[in-house]
Amino acid sequence: MTSAENRCSLCGESAAVRLTDPERRLCAGHFIEDVETRVLVAMEREQMIAPGDRVAVGLSGGKDSTALLLLLHRFLPTLGATLVAATVDEGIAGYREETLRAAESLTKELGIEHVIVTFADLFGDDLDRLLVGRETQGCTVCGVLRRRALAEAVKRTGATKLATGHNLDDEAQSVLMNILRGDLPRLVSDTSTGQPGHFVPRIKPLAVLSEKEIVTYLLLRGYYRDLPECPYAVTALRSEVRTMLAGLEHRHPGTMLRLMRFRDGARGSAGPAATGVLGTCRICGELTSGEVCQVCRLLGRGG
Ligand code: SF4
Repeated sequence: MTSAENRCSLCGESAAVRLTDPERRLCAGHFIEDVETRVLVAMEREQMIAPGDRVAVGLSGGKDSTALLLLLHRFLPTLGATLVAATVDEGIAGYREETLRAAESLTKELGIEHVIVTFADLFGDDLDRLLVGRETQGCTVCGVLRRRALAEAVKRTGATKLATGHNLDDEAQSVLMNILRGDLPRLVSDTSTGQPGHFVPRIKPLAVLSEKEIVTYLLLRGYYRDLPECPYAVTALRSEVRTMLAGLEHRHPGTMLRLMRFRDGARGSAGPAATGVLGTCRICGELTSGEVCQVCRLLGRGG
């Protein structure tokens, strides 16, 4: 028997999920509908998709990008856009093989074209080997190389937009990390516009959903998989920030949303000059704020 308090606020069926802001309980069907409506409304409000767009989902095979692919697979035909998936294989033993398999089986099931690029092809070696002697800088090195690799994968798909699976937790963590690092240009930078010839505009349709909501959505749709964590993640600043922010959000609900509002306000008042002027790397020709880009510096190119 389901008590009156544990019933869906919309249909009276047994509730599967309790949501706050506004406070409501929803059954599985209405929770899925609620999540999909919020994402669609955000995409329309921010005009993320234009008819004729070819959208590449940055698909790691993890929970966020899996949910994103499922959602866009449902919405894009109605918005007049097409979908493709782009995956980066960094070469991380014991982690990437399994997520890559999950990504490949999902694109196969949904019938979506899938482009995969590897660090070994682009940078001459796997991340594991590139990191020998500097394992504690895993995410710093990987982050720089991954961004370049994903841009290359997207170029190969011929996409006009890149959709990434960043959720509300990820976005709030990034705001806090940029504050802790004192990195104003990064805090206020806006990747939604792109750079012709270098990278396409980025969209983040899941930024309105918390990590918990995404996991619940996948569980209810039968797509949740328990996958391994990246072994380098534990050494990252993000890992500490994630724990701290989760505690703050629990004790002070709304903290993450307030951080997002702070970032938007900072963007508005900083203006475009705060992100600095970009030139091109004298070695590889990609965009950089210095003479040599971070990728070439990390790989020791150019002496
Ligand atoms: Fe790369 Fe760090 Fe992500 Fe692992 S956790 S894939 S090292 S950025």
